[in-house]
Amino acid sequence: MLNSNYISSSFDAMLKFSEAYAKRTGTFFCIDPSVTAVVIEGLAKHKDVHGAPLCPCRHYDDKKLEVSNAYWNCPCVPMRERRECHCMLFLPQGNDFAGNSQILDIKLLIKLNQ
Ligand code: SF4
Repeated sequence: MLNSNYISSSFDAMLKFSEAYAKRTGTFFCIDPSVTAVVIEGLAKHKDVHGAPLCPCRHYDDKKLEVSNAYWNCPCVPMRERRECHCMLFLPQGNDFAGNSQILDIKLLIKLNQ
């Protein structure tokens, strides 16, 4: 998994997207903020390097091709169609790992990624 200190304007953009999307879909962030931090970092890296927030929790042989297919660009098709986020970024209420927040603490997330 990703663990480098990676803070960019895309990190901030993905954080804001995540908050807005959690509210829109009635989902919640993980009770363990380090999970959320690493997923947002991965999305931001993909956005910067490949031009789209390709899901960071999967292996791809060809990331450029995957980005153009769009299926795994966040929010991916499984999330949009069935509310399934295997990265545990967006969790439905009642999920064992779901916290009770749809707001993120950017300072904490940055600290967790250092
Ligand atoms: Fe985004 Fe889908 Fe990956 Fe969840 S599983 S982080 S919704 S791309």
